[in-house]
Amino acid sequence: MSEKLAVAEAARFGRSSEKMDLPGQITVFNEVEAAADASVPEPTVEQVAPKRKPRPKGKRKEDIKDLPREVMTHELGDDELKQRFGDQGWKRLPDQVYYKVEAIPATYKVVEHHIAVYAAKDGTAVVKAAHPAELLNNSLASASLVAAVMNGKYGYPDNSASKSCLWDSYSAIIALRQNERGENMSKSKPKRISIQAFTRKYTTEGDCHTYLAKTRWPEGFICPKCGSQRHCKLSSGLYQCNDCHHQTSVTAGTFMHRSRLPLKTWFLALYFVTQDKRGISATQLALMIGVNYKTAWLMLKRIRAAMGNRDAMHMLSGVVEFDDCYIGGPTVGKKRGRGTEKAKVFVALSLKDGRPEYLKLCVTENIRKESVKSFAEKSIQLGSTVKSDACRSYIPALTAYDHQYEKFDPKTESLQWLHTIISNAKASILGTYHGLPKKNLQEYLNEFSFRFSRRGFGGALFDRLALAMVGSPLA
Ligand SMILES: [Zn+2]
Repeated sequence: MSEKLAVAEAARFGRSSEKMDLPGQITVFNEVEAAADASVPEPTVEQVAPKRKPRPKGKRKEDIKDLPREVMTHELGDDELKQRFGDQGWKRLPDQVYYKVEAIPATYKVVEHHIAVYAAKDGTAVVKAAHPAELLNNSLASASLVAAVMNGKYGYPDNSASKSCLWDSYSAIIALRQNERGENMSKSKPKRISIQAFTRKYTTEGDCHTYLAKTRWPEGFICPKCGSQRHCKLSSGLYQCNDCHHQTSVTAGTFMHRSRLPLKTWFLALYFVTQDKRGISATQLALMIGVNYKTAWLMLKRIRAAMGNRDAMHMLSGVVEFDDCYIGGPTVGKKRGRGTEKAKVFVALSLKDGRPEYLKLCVTENIRKESVKSFAEKSIQLGSTVKSDACRSYIPALTAYDHQYEKFDPKTESLQWLHTIISNAKASILGTYHGLPKKNLQEYLNEFSFRFSRRGFGGALFDRLALAMVGSPLA
């Protein structure tokens, strides 16, 4: 089973040595790839699959002998048997028996499946009763046991309450794994779709409405006031709670709250924002979706806020590279020719198997101990390893972590990924927006981080952004 899981994981996430030059990937990241030393030889040691020890006879029975047991008999009805064997009749042979260990959170029981087997009296045909399809053939593991194993291994560390109710379903684990950013390196990245296909998919307000409702309430409507699920839908498209009679719309309280724009216009905006990997300016967006500049600017502001809000729900963990840098350029209009307005920015990047995973960028007033500490507290999970240079304010600020620091030396490769990404962020933000006022910088950094951390999503980035827009309340 572990081998099967390993193969499945490799198929989904790719091998670590694979280059990620997938179409539609964010350009800046490909530049990092391009800059990497391709001449470094791949290791030549061959991976030999471990030889399997033959399973001792009777081990399976021994393994399950102390577990509570439930017998489930799968039989065929008389009608069906008559249909299968006709008038000449049938006899019942000994049942075929197999075992599955079911996992109910912290409870294990054996379900003993008895499949009724029937044969024609003249021996010409054998028929078995229907029984549930097996997840792993010829294994004791049931879907719920696999789910429990997977959950133990990969379950989200920051959400133990919701974790416990996800134990009993394999599909829930798959959903959880795909739900957020875990699918980043997936090889089978969803394809981008053309604007024609997109507008065909979301032709009416109703199409958009249905999609948003499903994104916001995957398990069905939940009253934002009292939490009740009992509701009716009014002809106006509003939802009315049967318990507290509160009326709400699918966008109420979300990042699309109180917008008089049609949902179709919002959908087009989300589409264009996710199509151009460097982002889109308000001028361009206004042209594309047929609104005025100010509306486009306000929409982008909401979209970037939603991106930042979504990312704030996650903390970096594992190995995290940390540094500060300056980002900014000449301020448009003002002080032309003299002085630049630059902002100090904290940068933290989590690595997985030595490769960049998730990114956080945060404008800061200064880089004193208290600022470093408060950034780390809201961005990096306790128990993480933080790597940085030996900046004086970092050392006392990061004592809560396994903090590894060394004096910055441009010749060594310390924090190599981090520094490449910082220069990419600068180039991308300044290149697309041609200098921007310092006060909006955080919004652009939010967008850069959101895109970076989801760079493997391809066409599904639209769904991630839609979820960011309606999946959490407007701050
Ligand atoms: Zn209610």
